[in-house]
Amino acid sequence: MSVDFLDKFQGTLLGVTIGDTLGHPFEGKIRSEIYSYFDDFEEFVQNNKRLFNTYTDDSQLTLHTAEALIQGNGFNTENFIREYVNWLDDPPVGPGYGCISSIRKLKYGIPWQQAASNSGGNGTVMRISPIGLFYCKDLKALKNVAIKSSVITHSHPAASAGAILIARAIAFLIDKNPEVGFSIDDFFNAIINSISNSQEEIWEEFIKILSKLKSNLDIPIESGLIKFSQVGVKSPYFIEQFLGQAFVHPYTISTVVCSLFIFLNRLTSFKECIFELATAGGDSDTVGAIGGSLAGAYFGLKKIPNDLIKLVKKNKKVLKISQELYNKFMESFENNYSK
Ligand SMILES: [Mg+2]
Repeated sequence: MSVDFLDKFQGTLLGVTIGDTLGHPFEGKIRSEIYSYFDDFEEFVQNNKRLFNTYTDDSQLTLHTAEALIQGNGFNTENFIREYVNWLDDPPVGPGYGCISSIRKLKYGIPWQQAASNSGGNGTVMRISPIGLFYCKDLKALKNVAIKSSVITHSHPAASAGAILIARAIAFLIDKNPEVGFSIDDFFNAIINSISNSQEEIWEEFIKILSKLKSNLDIPIESGLIKFSQVGVKSPYFIEQFLGQAFVHPYTISTVVCSLFIFLNRLTSFKECIFELATAGGDSDTVGAIGGSLAGAYFGLKKIPNDLIKLVKKNKKVLKISQELYNKFMESFENNYSK
C-alpha cells in the first residue's frame, strides 16, 4: 500500500491547529468543569463559535518550525532562531514562560546556550510535529534535530525527551492506514527505543512512566487523566490545588503521557479523538495540539471533517505551509533516501 504523504502532512499540521483551537477556551480548567458546560460537545462548538476563534502559541510555533525547515531544507539553527524571534511579532497567544523568556533573550542576540531556560515545560514538544514529518524517513536525523530544536529554548532533558518521542510517534503513524490499525506493542517499542540507552535519569524515568501508561490504556479517560495529569512533576512545580484531579500539568512528561493516553484510547475517528484531547483539562490546548498532531498523522486530512477544518483561522495558510514542507520532504526523499 502506498502512503499519501501530502494527506498525512496536511492532516498533521491541521490536527495541531484544530486541537489547539478547540482546547484554547478550556486552558486552565478542570475536566469536570469543562464537561459541565455541555451534553454534546459538537453542538456546543457549533453554537459557540466565537469561543473557538483562534489558535495559540502551540500552532504558531509549529508553523514557524515548519517555515524554518522549508527555508533551510531541513534544520539550521539560525533559521530556527529567526523564525522563533519572528513569532514575537505574531504576537504570541497564551505563551508559556519557558518559551517567551528564552526567545526574548534570543531576540537581543544572546546565544541560545545562555538564552535557553532550564524549563521542563511542554514548549518544545508542542512545536515538534514538522520535524517528525520532515525526518520521518531518517530516524537518526529525526532524533538529532528534535534535540537541537529543543535546546535552543529549553535546556531541561525532559523537554528534549518529549520532543524526540512525539516526533518519533509521528514518523511511526505516518505510514499507518487507519482502516487497518497498528500494533500498540510496535508503537510503544518505537517511542521507547527512541529515548533508550541514554545517560539521562529523567529519560529513564520517562520510559518507566510510558510502561505504566501502556498497562493502563483501557481505563476510562477520566480515571486515566486523574492518574497521569501530574505524572513526573516534582516539587516545587506541583500545582497543589489540582492534585488528584483531571488537570494536565504543563510539564513535558505529564503533557506527553496524557496526550498519548487519550490518542490511544480514542482511535475510532479523528473527531472523537480530538474532542477528547481538547477537553482534557489543565493545559487543554497543548494536549489538543500534541494529540492532534498524532491524530492528524494517523487519520490524514481526508478523514478530518470539513467543519473542523473551517473552524481554524488561516486554515488555508496551514494547508499551504504543509504542502511546502511536503515538497521539501519529497525533494530530500528523492535525493537522499531512495535506495
Ligand atoms: Mg497554548
